[in-house]
Amino acid sequence: MTGRKFLIGGNWKMNGSKALVDTLVTGLNNATWNTDEIEVVIAPPAPYLDLVRSKAKKEVNVSAQNIYFEKKGAYTGENSSEFLKDLGINWTIIGHSERREIFKESDEVTAKKVAFALAEGLSVIACVGEKLEEREANQTTEVVFRQLKAIAAVLKPSEWTNVVVAYEPVWAIGTGKVATPQQAQDVHHEIRTWLAANVSAEVAQATRILYGGSVGAKNSGELQKEVDIDGFLIGGASLTGDFVTIINTRA
Ligand code: PGA
Repeated sequence: MTGRKFLIGGNWKMNGSKALVDTLVTGLNNATWNTDEIEVVIAPPAPYLDLVRSKAKKEVNVSAQNIYFEKKGAYTGENSSEFLKDLGINWTIIGHSERREIFKESDEVTAKKVAFALAEGLSVIACVGEKLEEREANQTTEVVFRQLKAIAAVLKPSEWTNVVVAYEPVWAIGTGKVATPQQAQDVHHEIRTWLAANVSAEVAQATRILYGGSVGAKNSGELQKEVDIDGFLIGGASLTGDFVTIINTRA
């Protein structure tokens, strides 16, 4: 036993509608899992956060997909931690590869957002991961460590309590090309070793490391057997009945 509660996260990305909220939340409300062993977190698009929070049962944690690092002001189009707290939402994803790639969020901006969100009392799923060309050039750990280092540089060791790391190789996201359990385990182990060396042994032992990238009902069973895989961040399959199947497979 690792003592780490398995976290099953759903990242809806820019997908959804009121009708889909109804279908997916009803599915989750009808599902059961042992909350001592499994934590479920779903991240719908910002305009649906309030609706999802009000419909979902309390065992379902609701998360933003991103926030800015200021509380309010002239930041057109951005979302604030204050809005989340007002809605009773206490999680956010930060640094998803789509934020890093498409919206050009640097390691430093990502780290600043992680620190800000934690200071605001939110729990954070902080994403890291290498691109295909980086993996092929044997730079996987170099890239992941660089991303982690930026985050560790702005956090106190005690703040890691509310951080979950999601390892999401970019080449596996939305591609149907899932990392093998061994590939994922190898990087998760490297991340844990890095945390032990650069933050503390306690943080390394306690921090949950999720795998993300084409996780579905067909592969979640094998992936979750790996000792350093403490959960999943699920994109495409979180928009389907697969998400509850994955919870049931664990439960
Ligand atoms: P995917 O996305 O499951 O559709 O590959 C995962 C993610 O981007 O979080």
